[in-house]
Amino acid sequence: MTYFRAVDPFPLESPEQTKLHEFYEYLAAGRLVTTACRGCRRRDWPPRGFCPECGSDQFDWSDLPHEGLLHAFTVQETGVPAGFDKPLIFGITRLDELRIFTRIIETEPAELAVGKRVQFTPLRVTDDHEGKPRYLPAFKLVE
Ligand SMILES: [Zn+2]
Repeated sequence: MTYFRAVDPFPLESPEQTKLHEFYEYLAAGRLVTTACRGCRRRDWPPRGFCPECGSDQFDWSDLPHEGLLHAFTVQETGVPAGFDKPLIFGITRLDELRIFTRIIETEPAELAVGKRVQFTPLRVTDDHEGKPRYLPAFKLVE
């Protein structure tokens, strides 16, 4: 499957390159997590290794619900990069206190509406340079 960098929050995923690498391991296992600051418990999306609230660089992984409400979406019909099926759908999903921007997949654009329920689904993208599978978070309409 083709890789679309614009919706990949962490282009560098190995333990040598980012302390957030576990995010991808959880994704591959079907879990959607983000960082929760150990200092003030603030959660952010995308995950961050440094808290903008209290300055701590200590965090825990916090599971997010797998179902949320579609807050906004857009359907890209033209200018879709080579290798992608048209149309591409992007959405902002509200999960607890967070709003998460991802692709919306496996969904007919005509069925989408703001306020509909969507569910997390890991999207497999191009393998990494060592041939390990990679995933990005995505959502699809709840049937
Ligand atoms: Zn904090």
